[in-house]
Amino acid sequence: MLEVKTVGVFLEEPHLAVAASAGRFAAERLAALPVAEDDGAARRQAREVLALLGEAGLCRFVVPAAHGGARERVDSLSLCVIRENLAQASPLADAVFALQGLGSMPIALAGTDEQKERWLPGVASGETMTAFAMTEPAAGSDVRAIETVARREGDDYVLDGRKWLISNAGLADVYTTFAAVDSADGRDKPIACFLVAAENPGLRFAGPQILSAPHPLGEIVFEDCRVGASARLGDEDEGFKLGMRTLDRLRATVAAAACGMASRALDEALAHAKERRQFGRALSEFQLVQQKLALMATDLAAARLLTYRAAWEAENGDRVTLCSAMAKLAATETAQRVIDQAVQILGGRGVLASHPVDHLYRAVRALRIYEGTSEIQQLVIARELLAERG
Ligand SMILES: Cc1cc2nc3c(=O)[nH]c(=O)nc-3n(C[C@H](O)[C@H](O)[C@H](O)COP(=O)(O)OP(=O)(O)OC[C@H]3O[C@@H](n4cnc5c(N)ncnc54)[C@H](O)[C@@H]3O)c2cc1C
Repeated sequence: MLEVKTVGVFLEEPHLAVAASAGRFAAERLAALPVAEDDGAARRQAREVLALLGEAGLCRFVVPAAHGGARERVDSLSLCVIRENLAQASPLADAVFALQGLGSMPIALAGTDEQKERWLPGVASGETMTAFAMTEPAAGSDVRAIETVARREGDDYVLDGRKWLISNAGLADVYTTFAAVDSADGRDKPIACFLVAAENPGLRFAGPQILSAPHPLGEIVFEDCRVGASARLGDEDEGFKLGMRTLDRLRATVAAAACGMASRALDEALAHAKERRQFGRALSEFQLVQQKLALMATDLAAARLLTYRAAWEAENGDRVTLCSAMAKLAATETAQRVIDQAVQILGGRGVLASHPVDHLYRAVRALRIYEGTSEIQQLVIARELLAERG
């Protein structure tokens, strides 16, 4: 279980209780989980883990209480303590939990009562798996370049296009999908958001994309995919803003996952440094190794403080965008360095595929890319700073 002292100033009793229960869940249900060896195993494990997370009541934290959730509104501090604990034990379990939040938050933020009632109770129980379908081959950081089109036909929309790098592609029950609305009058195409059920005959899983660490990723294609207007979330021109608001609110949780992975790597490095002997002494007696450990622990503590400050801002403050971008940038870059140093301390053992630090080394890399790359976070931070200074 993670120590909460460093960030305790941001946490209240309910968050500590969630942290304890997520820590117990990670120790009892995830610690023994084997690292999935191929895409098929990762996909099976993702569904199994979702069921376990649902059973343990953890998925309830991504949904508001009115629709089966744990809190009146989704609370970033709880999401952070859960993600930090899950990521420490299993990066795949963390991704499964994160995706439940990412795919469903647009529904919680902008859904009608009917849309919320249809999807959110299943998300909270872990029976309904969600996906967030934004990225396309030509639209990554530049979300406005989305080419998937939604054509209005009477009361319906017909979607055509291709999404890739989509987590849970081929597994999810519902895809929160961003598409440019093709209006007859030739206006600039606004980006709208639609809920597309997996069983829609116009939606096709086009195959997995294999990541260096187990993670169900893939492509989906929309071909004459007809949805009713009741599948649209918010107004026709609200999709972009809704997507950005969702990412803004969840960015601190990516930082928390990075901290979880880094703290596991630090634990592994500390244990190894005390036990491994070379030149007649434990590695921990060499000052070069001590320096590594000292810097890893200090950088991690700083990253955790920024992370929990950002989550606190999301609940109580008005600087969410700035603080969450700083947290994601600092924590993901820090985690990469800390894990790399852990591998170094482990020596040859650290690059054996069977070792947890090797798994962390591969798993942490994507966090600097998804939900806004490190470069995009820097642009956001600069934009916010310059705006603050008038
Ligand atoms: C494991 C994983 C899971 C993912 N899951 C999802 C998902 O569930 N749903 C989804 O929609 N997407 C998902 N993605 C996609 C992810 O959000 C994109 O990969 C990310 O937004 C970057 O887009 P891109 O890959 O097209 O890179 P690009 O945008 O092409 O960027 C390439 C490089 O150029 C840099 N760059 C781009 N623009 C600028 C600029 N203006 N200034 C300076 N540098 C710039 C970037 O920082 C990056 O270093 C996932 C990706 C990964 C790796």
